[in-house]
Amino acid sequence: MNGSGESAYIGLGSNLHDPRRQVESALQALDRLPGGSLDARSSLYGSSPLGPPGQPDYVNAVARLHTTLAPLDLLDALQSIEAAQGRRRDMHWGPRTLDLDLLLYGGRRIVERRLVVPHPEMHRRAFVLVPLGEIAPDIDIPGHGPLRELLESVDRSTVRLLRDG
Ligand code: AMP
Repeated sequence: MNGSGESAYIGLGSNLHDPRRQVESALQALDRLPGGSLDARSSLYGSSPLGPPGQPDYVNAVARLHTTLAPLDLLDALQSIEAAQGRRRDMHWGPRTLDLDLLLYGGRRIVERRLVVPHPEMHRRAFVLVPLGEIAPDIDIPGHGPLRELLESVDRSTVRLLRDG
């Protein structure tokens, strides 16, 4: 079924240990995954953190992969990249070196123990929808409708485009 591959969208976020570098190096790691390549990537965006107060701002981006990996294999690969970049999993909603979410996999809806696609929070998160809109403005989110409409329902002022450098 996956012979020709699928487009998968990945959300990237970091608010520790040089977040821009973390996101850039994760993008390179995504491009090096077996069975595919990085098709498109958004600019980097800054956003205020969810969860406990006092955390540094996040750097966020969204990438599109062309991949022949099955969804759970892709999730494994994302978790390996997180682990390789030293993510600490000990504080829920706490600061993190790197968070990778599988946002979309083709047009599929997946509900498994380890994996829910579309990512169950993505349609409410400006820091996902804004970068996604940069690389896929006409996309539909299965179960939620056109991205253009979802973008109208979130507070886009919480997300700002980061300048290069
Ligand atoms: P988080 O701490 O938000 O990164 O959540 C990680 C956990 O969410 C992992 O145990 C994954 O198995 C699970 N998970 C479920 N759906 C997804 C998804 N679409 N992308 C990434 N992780 C997911």
